[in-house]
Amino acid sequence: MADAYDVAVIGAGPAGYPTAIRAAQNGLTVVCIDAWKNHDGSAALGGTCLNAGCIPSKALLESTELVHRAQTEFAAHGIRAQGVTVDLAVMQKRRASIVRTMTGGIAALFKAAGVTAVYGRARLLPGRRIEVVANDGARSELSARHVVLASGSVPTELPSLRFDHERICDSWDALEFDAVPPRLCVIGAGVIGLELGSVWRRLGSQVVVLEALDNFLAIADQQLAAEAARHFKKQGLDIRLGAKVSGTRVAGGAVNVDYTDRKGAQCVAVDKVIVAAGRRPYAADLLAPGSGVTLDERGFISVDADCRASAENIWAVGDCVRGPMLAHKGKEEGIAVADRIAGAYAHVNYDVIPSVIYTAPEIAWVGRTEEQLKAAGVQYKSGVFPFAASGRARAMEAAVGFVKMLAARDTDTILGVHIIGPMAGELIAEATLAMEFQASAEDLQRTIHAHPTLAEAIHEAALATDKRAIDNINR
Ligand SMILES: Cc1cc2nc3c(=O)[nH]c(=O)nc-3n(C[C@H](O)[C@H](O)[C@H](O)COP(=O)(O)OP(=O)(O)OC[C@H]3O[C@@H](n4cnc5c(N)ncnc54)[C@H](O)[C@@H]3O)c2cc1C
Repeated sequence: MADAYDVAVIGAGPAGYPTAIRAAQNGLTVVCIDAWKNHDGSAALGGTCLNAGCIPSKALLESTELVHRAQTEFAAHGIRAQGVTVDLAVMQKRRASIVRTMTGGIAALFKAAGVTAVYGRARLLPGRRIEVVANDGARSELSARHVVLASGSVPTELPSLRFDHERICDSWDALEFDAVPPRLCVIGAGVIGLELGSVWRRLGSQVVVLEALDNFLAIADQQLAAEAARHFKKQGLDIRLGAKVSGTRVAGGAVNVDYTDRKGAQCVAVDKVIVAAGRRPYAADLLAPGSGVTLDERGFISVDADCRASAENIWAVGDCVRGPMLAHKGKEEGIAVADRIAGAYAHVNYDVIPSVIYTAPEIAWVGRTEEQLKAAGVQYKSGVFPFAASGRARAMEAAVGFVKMLAARDTDTILGVHIIGPMAGELIAEATLAMEFQASAEDLQRTIHAHPTLAEAIHEAALATDKRAIDNINR
């Protein structure tokens, strides 16, 4: 006899595990099935984000940023730090320990909420029945009134660059290198490529980043992108735009990466390649014939605006459905679905999803870019405040970058906030909250910000939209 639950969640990444916890908070019986296996074969909850994405990458970015600061900033503080050396094994042990603590934390949260965790691979059968092959090979079946698919995404493999996980690596491999590759090629100057490139550059790799597009950081406001490009160049990241990779040749222990750019055929010889050319939705073996769930032309599970899939009481959330592949987007979708299943009203505001790139300087934005507003013919005003004029940023030896605020010319409503500079990923939360509440630039102008803080830069950028900045010359 199959176990029957109110809700079965497939996938315990940042989309799936919050769905399970909220559904349990709503008084429903919940099972969450996850197939994740680490490189050592151990099972873990948390999906890509906790095991091979957001958390381990931030652990390494933090460690390597300290190295960089010791080498380049300490002297300005009058601190002599000659001979700073790195013990990569300890750095990697710390990364692994943070991941273990965080993934173990989800198991504890499940236990406290009364969510049943099942470690194994799930397949959706017709009639909301689920076949589970546990990690020990045991087969079972369960059923649920509602099923939430949260199967996530996997790195895109390029036809010309097949992963061998030794020389041609994916982002997960790149988080677990046990030695610094002397020469590294990163394919893709997106968020993941820039973060991983920064980690290994700071540890001493010569890093070439090949980007097929002609525009650097095409998804970001281009004023921000230009500032970022300047800093990355200074840090020694060799970013080559319009570079289309055609193949690789392994010879004499090196990987020769062939690509073409405006000048013609080119080649770069490196020790390792990290392919960070995007991620694709993952639904392999997830849907049995007759499940009633359809995929769109790009392989995403088709859903409506409320994350309902094409079969009754089947939902899908996170990276396996349309929208930005971000942990916090999946989390909000999951919470909203769990509330909808319980009969409550829920809403996800897709227009106000912050994005962060955890490089140095950090880059973060929410809302629309200046290019998008121009293309849409929206009349807007712009206020920019440089961190060079921030006392706190100066005290931190981090007075680089700026806050840029875009507001509607007629209503003054904030339309976008773009930050490059210290703690941009933390600062963007204020802008996100303001936009969620449909605040005007004047609302932020009249909000008291503590002095001296980095957040004052947001206050001043709001003032600058009306050319009324106090701590900077208005132009
Ligand atoms: C290097 C890197 C850095 C990143 N940094 C950030 C960041 O800083 N901020 C951010 O917001 N995002 C970041 N991301 C993206 C983020 O990791 C994803 O957006 C997020 O993990 C998606 O969550 P998800 O729950 O939809 O899917 P996933 O996290 O991929 O989880 C899906 C889970 O479902 C399981 N699963 C799949 N199929 C089955 C099945 N049939 N049966 C059982 N289980 C199954 C998988 O094993 C996995 O555990 C990063 C990604 C990478 C690779």
